Amino acid sequence: AEKNREIRLVSRPQGVPRAEDFELAESPLPEPGEGEILVRNAFMSVDPYMRGRMNDVKSYVPPFQIGEALTGGAVGEVVASRAEGIAEGDWVSHMHGWREWAVVEARGAQKIDAAAARPEAYLGVLGITGLTAYIGLFDIGQLTDGETVFVSGAAGAVGSVVGQIAKAKGCTVIGSAGSAEKVAWLRELGFDHAFDYKTADLRGELAEAAPRGIELYFDNVGGDHLQAALGALRPHGRVVACGMISRYNDERPVPGPTNLALIVGKRLRLQGFIVSDHLDRHPAFLAEMSGWLRDGTVVGRETVIDGIESAPGAFIGLLRGENLGKMLVRIGPAPRS
Ligand code: NDP
Repeated sequence: AEKNREIRLVSRPQGVPRAEDFELAESPLPEPGEGEILVRNAFMSVDPYMRGRMNDVKSYVPPFQIGEALTGGAVGEVVASRAEGIAEGDWVSHMHGWREWAVVEARGAQKIDAAAARPEAYLGVLGITGLTAYIGLFDIGQLTDGETVFVSGAAGAVGSVVGQIAKAKGCTVIGSAGSAEKVAWLRELGFDHAFDYKTADLRGELAEAAPRGIELYFDNVGGDHLQAALGALRPHGRVVACGMISRYNDERPVPGPTNLALIVGKRLRLQGFIVSDHLDRHPAFLAEMSGWLRDGTVVGRETVIDGIESAPGAFIGLLRGENLGKMLVRIGPAPRS
């Protein structure tokens, strides 16, 4: 009989996660109970927030447990259903990734239209990272057409969508990312100014790209990026605090930006958010984003790594910046066309 393969956490990473913190394990093929479905996962997501869940600390999501399979976003085909409203052959998105087969409660699964878009898009531009860009820009950042916007982590899943939406709204868009290849892609996407933060001077680049300052900073990185952005913001500017990935592997707190006093003098507004508080906006987002994908306003891109055994490497690679667009792992068959 077929076995299930899954990735378990064997030790809590100290600093940067290593391959030895994870193991590939086999388990029997699970069987769906009443109200549940069995899914053959096709793609799974690796995401920066998972790094936080690997620490044993209280946060907005509980920590992963040692010796247990990790969890996270995945899409796949329903191969057996004991739930009303979901049938064999349907495609669903759910939170039981990091394994090839998953039993999922029906209320934890959302049907996706695998004919309308590639199923993996529902883990990126049509999924949580796309929604994060949308909520961050409109609900939190209150983007106005024509503003000057700076986004860090700009070649990643969230950042690349932020930049493209802002461009569609007539904004001047500045993006930073960690390689020449990424910068070239940002220019292809229509960013007005893109630079490699590993070789460029952040302050100098922002001053050159926006001599009159920026109005909105979409922060995916924190640290030096936040410091430089505070310096470049115009009076009454806003910071959307989406993520601070430059800090996620820190073993102890690092002193923050040294120029926070600017918040007062410039009357800045800095607001964090967690996308899962805004899931009621998903239908509106899906309708609008589907249109943008159809007419080419937004391009969804993924970096795909093959095989469940490669999932820890994909996660570690994500933290190192080895992805353009959304980082995904292909762990099962594509839809039959
Ligand atoms: P990305 O696709 O952007 O991947 C992470 C990227 O971070 C890497 O590709 C790398 O790109 C960059 N990076 C890693 N280390 C550093 C560093 N020290 N300094 C600068 N950049 C670094 O991931 P996501 O799009 O999924 O997430 C982007 C951000 O959004 C993260 O901070 C994440 O935590 C946050 N997030 C927040 C959500 C919320 O609800 N608030 C929801 C989803 C994501 P590079 O080569 O450019 O360094």
